[in-house]
Amino acid sequence: MFSKIRGFKVFNKDFDSFISYILERTKKEKVHIVSGNPEVLTFGEKDGELNNEFKKDTTVIIPDGIGIVIASKVIGNAVNEKIAGIEVLEKLLSIYEEENKGVFLLGAKEEIIVDTYKSIQIKYPKLNITGYNNGYFDIDNCDDLIEKINKGNPEAIFVAMGCPRQEKFIRKYFDKINCKVFMGVGGAFDVISGKSNRAPRWMINCGLEWLYRVIKEPFRIKRLTVIPKYLLKVIFNNKGEK
Ligand code: UDP
Repeated sequence: MFSKIRGFKVFNKDFDSFISYILERTKKEKVHIVSGNPEVLTFGEKDGELNNEFKKDTTVIIPDGIGIVIASKVIGNAVNEKIAGIEVLEKLLSIYEEENKGVFLLGAKEEIIVDTYKSIQIKYPKLNITGYNNGYFDIDNCDDLIEKINKGNPEAIFVAMGCPRQEKFIRKYFDKINCKVFMGVGGAFDVISGKSNRAPRWMINCGLEWLYRVIKEPFRIKRLTVIPKYLLKVIFNNKGEK
């Protein structure tokens, strides 16, 4: 069910299997879902705190990027498909709407999180959004926020504060927040609120979502260099992991 890529276990079945797996596991325990792309997993290699977090049994990494899909092929244990974090988020929202379970939305700028809240309310009218908060606060000093999250007793918290901030927040409060699903969703609220768009489907299908994002937001070009660097490490430093 997992491919080991540079020391991290990455889920290797398809999207539907992943959703079933998460729903089954979270009947009994908490899970931290990490959207693994080369940038996120490189943070996980370099940062001791994240390294620990990404290797915990309660963490599940999904292959959310063409770079990770290619890396899994290079090591000879290919993942079934790319699993996009934003699609997991949308699927879980629709399931929790049906199951009458609550969700908390955390992250992005104030106007973006308000618009995200409104868009999700329109798309999933019966979903219980127990609360929301922008992502600009002191992670080491946010007891009031933790109390606010726990008050609504949500099943899941989706944290859109970019990596490594969102993963550090989840690591720090995993035990204190009474949710079953903890998931970092990066820039997903910018998309849901309508501030930015996802790439057209043909580009997503061709593994070119990264190209679309860099055309729209050229400042990302520097961040992209992590993909070839990551792949070179996989090719030349692959310790025969399976
Ligand atoms: N963000 C935040 N708090 C911060 C820094 C960033 O909530 O202290 C938000 C930011 O507003 C944006 C998201 O985190 O909505 C990061 O998006 P980005 O596109 O960098 O993430 P990616 O999808 O590339 O992981």
